[in-house]
Amino acid sequence: MAGPRDRDQPLTTRPGGVVHSPSVSAVPVEHLDELQAYAQAVAGCTRCRLAQGRTQVVFGSGSAHADLMFVGEAPGFHEDRQGVPFVGQAGKLLEQLLAGIGLSRQEVYIANVLKCRPPGNRDPQPDEIEACESHLFRQIELIEPTVVATLGNFATKLLSGRPLGITRVHGQEQQTTIGSRSVLLYPLYHPAAALYTPAMLKVLESDFARLPELLGRMPEPAAAPEPELALVAPQPPAEQLGLF
Ligand code: URA
Repeated sequence: MAGPRDRDQPLTTRPGGVVHSPSVSAVPVEHLDELQAYAQAVAGCTRCRLAQGRTQVVFGSGSAHADLMFVGEAPGFHEDRQGVPFVGQAGKLLEQLLAGIGLSRQEVYIANVLKCRPPGNRDPQPDEIEACESHLFRQIELIEPTVVATLGNFATKLLSGRPLGITRVHGQEQQTTIGSRSVLLYPLYHPAAALYTPAMLKVLESDFARLPELLGRMPEPAAAPEPELALVAPQPPAEQLGLF
């Protein structure tokens, strides 16, 4: 197996109701437009070598206004063909896990660290992640989720900014700032890895079961950037206030 993706696995059941473009309900038009415009711009991306072998860019799918966003690794064979993330066996498991907490894939947003399929489904290379990461950061800024669930090592390390592997950190939420947004980052095992390891599936199921509680938490404001000394306006001495 090349990695945690279900790339090249035959698709036995087509997931129902897969949406390729963001759903339109209750989403401000300009917000939706911006995400769609960004998806169109990224469709022609040639920032890295993966552009040469892809069928198409797999930008992301689901609700443009989702509170919950999932970030996987990279498109596999089926995703590259269909242009939609998580449509293979791992996607089926993800949909089952979502159903278990009363959600469908149309109500969340699903994306990947890499938007193009690596050849032979090999692991993403550091320079490919670097070339692609701003697409993901922009997606997060536009969708404004409160919880970002990272699926597997690549998404977890990228978005946590820490090298700790998924076995160490799964199920441990952490408040973090991505761009200008404060989000609750929630690392999970990758569903493709759990497909073949029953013990991992149990852990994934119990980590998943905490998502409703995490979604119910009040979002924390983004941490204020450290003020640069030169930019801090001088405060008048207290006694001066009485002069006016
Ligand atoms: N695995 C991923 O990480 N992403 C997909 O889109 C499919 C499988």
